[in-house]
Amino acid sequence: MDARLREFARQTKGFMPEAEGLALHQAGMEASAIGPLLEVGSYCGLSALYLGSAARDSGTVLITVDHHRGSEETQPGWEHHDPEVVDPRSGRIDTLPFLRRTLEETGLEGTVIVIVGDSPAVSPVVAGGLGLLFIDGGHALDVAMADYTAWAGHLAAGGLLAIHDVFEDSAEGGQAPFEVWQRAVADGFVPVSTTGSLRLLRHH
Ligand code: SAH
Ligand code: MG
Repeated sequence: MDARLREFARQTKGFMPEAEGLALHQAGMEASAIGPLLEVGSYCGLSALYLGSAARDSGTVLITVDHHRGSEETQPGWEHHDPEVVDPRSGRIDTLPFLRRTLEETGLEGTVIVIVGDSPAVSPVVAGGLGLLFIDGGHALDVAMADYTAWAGHLAAGGLLAIHDVFEDSAEGGQAPFEVWQRAVADGFVPVSTTGSLRLLRHH
């Protein structure tokens, strides 16, 4: 991946270790041959930078979906809360300005299409045929499962499903993404690889 973007990623707010970001980038490079890339959970654009770089270099786009109001686990008082992403006017989380800035400063505005909205409400108005679907939105079980059921059918045959924060051991993290991964396997997705908490599966 582009050295400048890699360096930029190290300065970007977010929840994606570099090794996982690079694995995501690699998956994006491969999947771009099949169709556009889509992620649920933009936050400040860290994973969008890895996927957007792949989309740009292979001539496709990344669609990134988020309501930008944060997940349960990023609200004030929770483990992953960052007071810098709170809008002082409203007192609510607003990560959209951070995402815009990430895309502006990396030159990815022409490649990354930003959709602001609730993920299950957005899915029916976005076309299918996706090369890659990355699920990294809310991590409560009902929310994560709703993302899977809303979007999995948008993948093209041979496309890649990427799920973040998959921990088999509950001592390491919440179990919802692992339950989504198990559901995907039960639905016929074929496990391809694991990098840290990032799991890749292929749509049959
Ligand atoms: N991929 C990011 C991290 C995403 S954090 C990174 O690399 O850093 C999870 C994001 O999911 C939050 O920004 C939150 O606002 C968003 N989110 C949670 N539930 C959502 C929903 N129902 N619809 C849209 N976005 C949602
Ligand atoms: Mg994550």
